[in-house]
Amino acid sequence: TPRVFSGIQPSGDLHLGNYLGALKRFADAQEKGVQSIYCMVDLHAITVPQKPEDLKRSTRELCAGFIASGIDPEKSILINQSQVPEHAQLAWIFNCVARMGWMGRMTQWKDKAGKNAEAASLGLFAYPALMAADILIYHATHVPVGEDQKQHLELTRDIAAKFNHDYGVDFFPLTEPVIEGAATRVMSLRDGSKKMSKSDPSPASRINLTDDADTIAKKFRKAKTDPDALPSEAEGLKDRPEARNLVNIYAALSDQTIDQVLAEVGGQQFGTFKPALAELAVSKMGPITTEMQRLMADETEIDRILARGAEQAREITTPILKRTYEIVGMVG
Ligand code: ATP
Ligand code: MG
Repeated sequence: TPRVFSGIQPSGDLHLGNYLGALKRFADAQEKGVQSIYCMVDLHAITVPQKPEDLKRSTRELCAGFIASGIDPEKSILINQSQVPEHAQLAWIFNCVARMGWMGRMTQWKDKAGKNAEAASLGLFAYPALMAADILIYHATHVPVGEDQKQHLELTRDIAAKFNHDYGVDFFPLTEPVIEGAATRVMSLRDGSKKMSKSDPSPASRINLTDDADTIAKKFRKAKTDPDALPSEAEGLKDRPEARNLVNIYAALSDQTIDQVLAEVGGQQFGTFKPALAELAVSKMGPITTEMQRLMADETEIDRILARGAEQAREITTPILKRTYEIVGMVG
């Protein structure tokens, strides 16, 4: 049976990339009636330093973001990772299945560890093994993510396959990544070669879900672009990463293809296109922001939703961990 799992780190404020690459698409999966589990991955967030108070606030805000984006806690399971301990327990088993060499090849590791890998946390290096555990502790079959997570999902399959092979079982499924839509990789507004990220030190590099209309307009106005007018066909966006990024965002927000957008805006200068893009973003994101703020006003309700989600999740994770321990040979 198909089962969807996906997670987002409470490592900062949600941005347009998280919305278009992840959140917006989660609601679509839910509407198809597939059992879905959505997770605030706080254990992943602490692979880089987080202030305890910020982590708490970000986790609750992220939960509000999921619900405001259309995830219904009555239809999907919403959890905070550390409240379902089987994630971390299975991750340890996978730490012993995965190879150092596999981890060392991960581009997210290389990007986030930077030049001084010796000073990075061991958790940051092991991140993909925990991610594999997040997915496989549910025997999830489909994982909707942005493009940047493709390599980690391939590694998840490698871990599942190696576990099954080493223990001579057919226990963990080979998960399918679901990377679809016009905006699976939204780029930074300051640098067309970098993805938009919560952890980018420049706030001008991203549009946050909590930005007001003026801030959104200003960030798009200041977004890096080239001096040329927009082309009338997708072909004309080749070698124009910043222009392509803004057109992709427009297409994803308006549920159109790139060609449909260019048929409408081809020939426009950025001075015309950027305000239209800002207006579109405000009209799509504004209601979500308002709903997030409303939900954030009642923390106890958010905590109640997460506690109930954890209970539902553990009905799935407890037997899968138990069976894993048996396969591995743990007495219990
Ligand atoms: P961090 O900088 O802390 O890693 P992030 O912005 O990369 O934060 P994550 O929590 O790591 O966000 O990722 C959550 C989901 O959002 C994943 O499915 C990821 O693929 C997706 N995502 C992140 N950034 C983008 C982006 N720029 N475009 C499209 N999808 C994205
Ligand atoms: Mg990330």
